[in-house]
Amino acid sequence: MEPVLEIRNLNVEYGLGERAVRAVRDVNLTLHRGEVLGLAGESGSGKSTLAYGLTRLLAPPGVITGGEVIYHPEKGDAYDVLGLSDKALRAFRWAETAIVFQGAMNSLNPVHKISTQLTDVLRAHEPRMSEHSRSARAREMLKLVGISPDRMDAYPHQLSGGMRQRVMIGMALILQPQVVIMDEPTTALDVVMQRQILGQLIDLRERLGFSVIFITHDLSLLVEFSNRIAIMYGGRIVEQAPAATIYRDALHPYSKGLLGSFPALRGPRRELTGIPGSPPDLAAMPSGCSFHPRCPQAFEPCAPHIPVLGRPDTPDGAARSVACWLHPTEQPVG
Ligand code: SF4
Ligand code: MG
Repeated sequence: MEPVLEIRNLNVEYGLGERAVRAVRDVNLTLHRGEVLGLAGESGSGKSTLAYGLTRLLAPPGVITGGEVIYHPEKGDAYDVLGLSDKALRAFRWAETAIVFQGAMNSLNPVHKISTQLTDVLRAHEPRMSEHSRSARAREMLKLVGISPDRMDAYPHQLSGGMRQRVMIGMALILQPQVVIMDEPTTALDVVMQRQILGQLIDLRERLGFSVIFITHDLSLLVEFSNRIAIMYGGRIVEQAPAATIYRDALHPYSKGLLGSFPALRGPRRELTGIPGSPPDLAAMPSGCSFHPRCPQAFEPCAPHIPVLGRPDTPDGAARSVACWLHPTEQPVG
């Protein structure tokens, strides 16, 4: 499969010098064209930081301290997003890679009609487009996300939470980006609404051909809506595999714990067990495998030695990777 975004050895820290904490540690991850890649982990695991880091939207004191984010445009040569000028970066965001932020439905400007907010994105990025075409594109986007175009002139407060969320998704798609990053896009909505909106987004992806990085702490949603899942803990990716594989046969004890923390939407009911303890303090990360203080299966090597993400020695090992001493791996993988 062709890559669209390749994250290579990405490191992000908050603060500088001795008191800096590492929030993203040596992350390697590839998003392929047309796929939905799910990113799971408890809060504080580094998933939002990873998303903001790769689009260079980190708020201070967040800094990228190393790595590359190679983007493959539809036409032309690949380039490192981390090396873009500010101007090129502004064009890259929205037009190539758009983010729907956590709590985005509350970030619409309350004093502007939604039509204005949609066309403003076009005005900024496609200044030569006529007013008529902008308005036509805005209507089309609303229709795509399931909002009747006669709501064009509504103000955000006149729309339900679900509709505001759809407007945000429409706004993210209006410049036809190749990559859409959704950070906990629907957590403020009820479960039925969440699934409906995500289902529609997946349909749109099939029609429009973009790729999605979908971030949530709810692994059961990812199992249903993504092709592949990467699981983060303490700033690192600890397991990565096709969604069905994670669901059926997760290897990492943390992945298993996450699966046991949410009710499955389909298939046999699992017992909800949760994970004992709480996520690690980034400023005082446990030694070795940072999950070891909470891991029910921890054994001798876990506290002293960091397990490296690698391909496990299983028949389907080529398609997955894991960082756990229980699962001997081949050479480190990206
Ligand atoms: Fe548990 Fe050890 Fe595997 Fe970490 S490396 S998840 S502590 S068994
Ligand atoms: Mg977050």
